Amino acid sequence: MIQFQHVSKIFHGKPAVENLNLNIAEGEFTVLIGTSGSGKSTTLKMINRLIEHDQGKILFAGDEIHSFKPQELRRRMGYAIQSIGLFPHWTVEQNIATVPQLLKWPKAKIRDRVSELLALLHLDADRFRGRYPHQLSGGQQQRVGVARALAADPEVLLMDEPFGALDPVTRASLQAEIARIHQLSGRTVVLVTHDIDEALALADRIVLLDQGQVIQQGSPRHLLTRPANAFVRDFFGRSDIGIKLLALGAAGAHARKGERLPGK
Ligand code: ADP
Repeated sequence: MIQFQHVSKIFHGKPAVENLNLNIAEGEFTVLIGTSGSGKSTTLKMINRLIEHDQGKILFAGDEIHSFKPQELRRRMGYAIQSIGLFPHWTVEQNIATVPQLLKWPKAKIRDRVSELLALLHLDADRFRGRYPHQLSGGQQQRVGVARALAADPEVLLMDEPFGALDPVTRASLQAEIARIHQLSGRTVVLVTHDIDEALALADRIVLLDQGQVIQQGSPRHLLTRPANAFVRDFFGRSDIGIKLLALGAAGAHARKGERLPGK
C-alpha cells in the first residue's frame, strides 16, 4: 500500500533519512522505532506530504505520492501526534469533525460519526461532545486526537508518539484500543515510537532506524530471534517484554496469530 524506494530527505546538507526502502502492506501494523533523531518522524511525515522527500520515490496505492493533492491525502490518511494539536477554542465535536467539515459532510452525518467515534474510544458522547480541550484529562485529549484522525474513515492511520506524555495505565488502555481498532477495521497503521515494549506489543512489523537508515525490519519475532547485528540485539535486549516474550516462546502480534518461535 505504501512503498518507499531509495528515499532520502536532506535538511541543511545533512540527511535525516537516507536511501530508505520500505514496503508497508495493506492492513499491516508497522512500527517505526529508533532513538531520538533517527528519522522516524521525518519518514512518517513524508507519507502524507507534511514533508516532501528530496530523492527516490514514494508510492501510495500504486501511484506516486506527488500525484495526490494534499487534501486527498488528509482524507485518506488520518494523522495523530503526541502534542495532540486540538484546537483549544473548539469543542470535542468540532475538533473531531475537522476533516469531515472540510469535506462538507452533512451535519447529521458528522454528528453520528462523532458519536460513533467517541463510543469507540470509550468516551460518553453526551458528556464529552460539547466540552473544550482544557476540560479534558491528558488521556481524554489523546483519545479525541485519535478520534479526529479516524473521523473521515481513512485507509491509513499515521501516529507519531500518540501516547507520549501519558501515565502508564492510560497509555496501556489507549494502546489496547488502538490494537482493537486495527483488528476490527483491518486498517493500515504506521506508528512512530521510541518505546520498545510498545513496538513489540503492537507491531506486525517493526522498522528499526538509526541515523536515517533502516538497520533491520521484520516481525517482532524475527527481530528478537534473528537480530541482524549487535546493535539490534542490544536495542531489543533492553526490553522487559522482549525477554518475557522470548522466555514464553512468543513475540508480539505474530504470537497472537498463532506463530511459534523456532525450537518451541
Ligand atoms: P526522530 O523522529 O527519530 O526523533 P526526526 O525525523 O525528527 O527524528 O529527525 C531526524 C533528523 O532530521 C534529526 O537530526 C533532526 O534534527 C533533523 N530534522 C528533522 N526535522 C528538521 C527540520 N525541519 N529542519 C532541520 N532539521 C530537521
